[in-house]
Formats: sequence, structure tokens, C-alpha cells
Amino acid sequence: MTKLSTVCVFCGSNPGTDPEFMEAATETGRFLAENGIRMVFGGGRVGLMGQVADTVMAEGGEVIGVIPRDLAEKEVAHQNLTELHVVNSMHERKALMAKLSDGFVAMPGGFGTFEEICEVITWTQLGFQEKPCGILNVNGYYADLISLFDKATENGFIHSQHRRLVLVSDRIDDLIEKFRSFKPNHLEKWLDKDSI
Ligand code: AMP
Repeated sequence: MTKLSTVCVFCGSNPGTDPEFMEAATETGRFLAENGIRMVFGGGRVGLMGQVADTVMAEGGEVIGVIPRDLAEKEVAHQNLTELHVVNSMHERKALMAKLSDGFVAMPGGFGTFEEICEVITWTQLGFQEKPCGILNVNGYYADLISLFDKATENGFIHSQHRRLVLVSDRIDDLIEKFRSFKPNHLEKWLDKDSI
């Protein structure tokens, strides 16, 4: 069983256009608080990220925000968190978020969210960490990205065993269940194409 006391949530700094995104943010926050799972996130008070954090706090859970100084100074930092770390750069931020977390969830979002989840998937793929990474596919939002991962696998850029590192569900409880039974594999990334 993978240890899961702290989970990092990557998600939009905007609320998105589908009301289901905000509902899923509330549900995720409630689930984390009720299950005693501490949340790590980008430290903003805006969009879906603000909503997940607000809900965890309102439900009596713990939230650690990690925000670069530039963003904090633009006054988007969340002021009501268990802890807020203000760091010097985006790179420092992502390193600290990863260090503090036992697993990573991406909810709907834009470039920031895509970049964050793909980076931690890469770290697990390369064996730099053994932490589960998953996509919360709210209302099919990530269907095209998931198809792209499949296409990259078919085209020999992602090994099928690495493709399986990306856990997917449309429900947070189910996704966290998958995290708990996650087993990293230790496959070399650079194999000849016959082994794919
Ligand atoms: P995006 O999906 O492009 O809205 O970016 C959201 C992700 O990037 C979040 O998971 C944050 O870690 C980071 N991020 C982007 N904008 C902000 C912001 N205004 N405040 C804090 N973090 C942000």
C-alpha cells in the first residue's frame, strides 16, 4: 500500500466554464478533509485551486500552499491556509510541492496544470520518485490528453508500462483508491522499439 498522508492537487487558477469543475473542486476538498489527507497546492486563492483549498480548510483539514514570491506579491496568495511557503521561483515551488507530497492529482486546468502533472509523471517514469500521479477526468475534460498519451504509446514514444503510470478516474474516491494500490515499475525509459 502506498503511503498517502499528503496529496498535491494541481488545478486551474480559473474556475472554467463548466459548473461541474467547481463542484468537483468542492467534492475533492471535502474528500481530502474527511479522509485526513493533507493537501499541498500552488497557494493561490483563485479559481478551482482556491475552491479546493477553501473547502479543505472549511471542513477542518490541512492545506499547505507553495507560491513563488512574484505571484504572492500580485496578491493572489491564499491567506487562510495551515501553512504558506513563499519561494523564489517556479522551479523551487515545484520541487518543494513534490517533496512534501505522497501523490499528485490533476483536476481541470490550463497550461500550468498540464505542465505540473506531466512533470511529476516524468519523474515517476524516470524513477526519481515512486509516487502515484493521476488525472481526475471531470466530465471528460481530459479525454483528448488521455488520447494523446495513447497515441504517443502507439507511436513508440511512451512505453506501455509507463503509460500505465498515469492513473485516471472521474471520481476522487476511486482515484485515491488507485493511488493506494499503485506499484511503480522500474523499467528503463530507453528501450529499443521491439520491446514496446
Ligand atoms: P493554470 O492551469 O494555467 O491555471 O495553472 C494552474 C497551476 O499553475 C496551479 O496548479 C498552480 O500551481 C499554478 N498557478 C497558476 N496561476 C496561479 C496563481 N495565480 N496563483 C497560484 N498558482 C498559480
